[in-house]
Order: sequence, then C-alpha cells, then structure tokens
Amino acid sequence: MTDSPRSQSTGPYDLAANESPFAPLPGVLEAVRDMSLELNRYPDPACTELRAVLGRELRVPAERVAVGAGSVALIRDLLAEYATGPDGEVVFAWRCYEGYRAAVRLVGAVPVPVPLRADRHDLAAMAGAVTERTRLVVVCNPNNPTGTVVGRTELARFIDGVPEHVLVVVDEAYRDFAAGPDAPDAVGTEGHRPNVVVVRTFSKAYGLAGLRVGYAVAHEPVAAALRARALPYAVSAAAQRAAMVSLREREALDRRVAGLVRRRTLLVDGLRAAGLRVLDSHTNFVWLGLGEHTGAFADACREAGVRVKAFPGEGARITVGEQEAVERVIAVASRLPHTSAHRATADAHSPER
Ligand SMILES: *Cc1c(COP(=O)(O)O)cnc(C)c1O
Repeated sequence: MTDSPRSQSTGPYDLAANESPFAPLPGVLEAVRDMSLELNRYPDPACTELRAVLGRELRVPAERVAVGAGSVALIRDLLAEYATGPDGEVVFAWRCYEGYRAAVRLVGAVPVPVPLRADRHDLAAMAGAVTERTRLVVVCNPNNPTGTVVGRTELARFIDGVPEHVLVVVDEAYRDFAAGPDAPDAVGTEGHRPNVVVVRTFSKAYGLAGLRVGYAVAHEPVAAALRARALPYAVSAAAQRAAMVSLREREALDRRVAGLVRRRTLLVDGLRAAGLRVLDSHTNFVWLGLGEHTGAFADACREAGVRVKAFPGEGARITVGEQEAVERVIAVASRLPHTSAHRATADAHSPER
C-alpha cells in the first residue's frame, strides 16, 4: 500500500483530520482530469447517475438517496429542515463529532449533548434525554473521536424506544474501517424505519475529502426534503464522477482499508507497548484519553513533525496516516514518562468523567 506522492514527504504530517494517506482509487484521477475539460458546464444538480448507482449498490430506490457536498452538508440540511428554532432539541453524544454542535448552533436549534460513558455512546442516557421537544437524535457510529461502535442489537433497541416523530440520524462516516458482525450498516439493518436517516461520506475510506461528496439514505419524504433543500450545483461534476468511479473499485478499496487497518494495529500496539491505555479502534484513527497530559503530548508530536487533534483536558485523536508519521507518534509516546502516561489514562477513564 503506497502513500500518495505528496504524502511521502518528510512532513510535517497532518494526522488531525482523519484524511486518507493514500492516492485516489484507480481511475479517479483520469476521471477528474476528463471532467476538467467541462469546467464551463454546470454539474447535474440532481446527481441522477450517482444516485442511481448508489441505489443499486444499497438495494434501495434512487428516490431514497440524497447526495450532498460532503455528509456535513447533509447533516446541516437535516437540522435546518427538522430542528430549527428554540423548540428544536437535538440529542447527540459528547464528546462526538464537532460538526454536530456547530451545525446545531448555526440553525438555532437546542443542543442536548449526552456524555459518553467509558468512551462509548450511553444510549440509555440518550433515550432518557429525548423529550417532546426533541426533533432529532444523532448516533455517530463508529464514534468520532473515540472510535467505538454501537452494536446492531443495541442500536435497534435504542431506536425502538425513540418516538416515531423523532428523526434518528446515523452517521456512518467510518463504517468501512469496522469489521465483524457489529460493523455498522444501518441502511441494511434500520433502513426499513421511516424515521431513520443514514449519512455516509466519500471523504474518509474513499479518500475524496477534497472533492466534497457524501450521501444520505432515508425514506422518500426525508430524502426528497434533503434534495429540495440542497444548494443547487453544490456537488461538482468531478465529485459525482469520482464517486461513481470509486464505487466500482471495491477490491482496491478493500486493499486500502486492509492496509490502513494493519497500520492501525501497528499504532495501537506501539502505543500500548509505550504503556498507554488504548481502546480498540473501529475507525481510521486512534483515541488516547490522556486527560491533562493531552497538550504536552500534542506539543511533543508537533515537535516531531506530526499534527494530531488535541481535545485539551480530554485526549488526543490520531489519524492512521502515513507510515512514517505513525512511527513518529509511536516514538513520541515511547518517550513519554511511563508512570505519568499510566496515570493520565487512569484519570481520563475515571467514573466522574
Ligand atoms: C469527517 C466526518 C464527517 C464529514 O465528512 P464530509 O463528508 O467530508 O463532510 C461527518 N461525520 C463524521 C463523524 C466525520 O468524522
């Protein structure tokens, strides 16, 4: 598995945004180059072909698919459509993807963050946080930034308990990196429910973050509302084409994911060997609950030429990026004072958190 040419430099390396370190899938660069000959043309605003391809792939009618300029655009549109105003409560776990909180604020809805429990979604507490003012509940599965997964049975039971007028948004940005019987696939497992929306992105495993394309699968009225609300022409022709070409490259994608998962194992093992407590990750990043030592760790990484995402006082999220960058992070962790590292993780996982 080779890193993208630009990524084979000597750094600084960016392991803060969960981007793919790999070159685009076969055919993508050629497709984008071809599309560049038509920069004078508007793209298909309905993303007709891409929606048809996604529909076939996911075994749902294309009417149930909406495409957006990244899944963050779809999440924002869902909030704007269903949760605007002082009565619009939105329940989500915290710590979780920062985009939710920002989007909730932007549309003037009311954020109802529910603390994680031992770095996992506390679904019982989230169900308890649903009131008659709740419009929307977000489940980030696997969770960013902790990398944990909500199991299929757990998720089904949770949604059973959510009133039908509440929309449950399942964000599966990292599903490709999860394996096993509990690997998230809410389109398959929960797609029959009218109040479930699944959002996915081409930004992470598919490595197309710079092109901005993601999709939502929902029941028809919700998907139609999303299509109606979308900014016209927001998804470029290059993005639509690149997504379609990528979907044909299942095997190449699987190889990239397998390569990344091997690298993730290397990182997790290296961090554990350095005495740190690391949860198993089901994503393309690793969470280190370093508590008060987070800043010092991030600083040491920066000195080693690697940017990681620091959540001061809580922990650091490290993308499984370039091989060299991953090795540098392990080296930094190995230099951390052993005892303080142990203490840090113990603190970060104490019950009061
Ligand atoms: C990266 C990320 C997204 C946004 O992806 P885009 O499609 O690039 O907008 C959405 N949700 C989560 C949890 C993410 O980590």
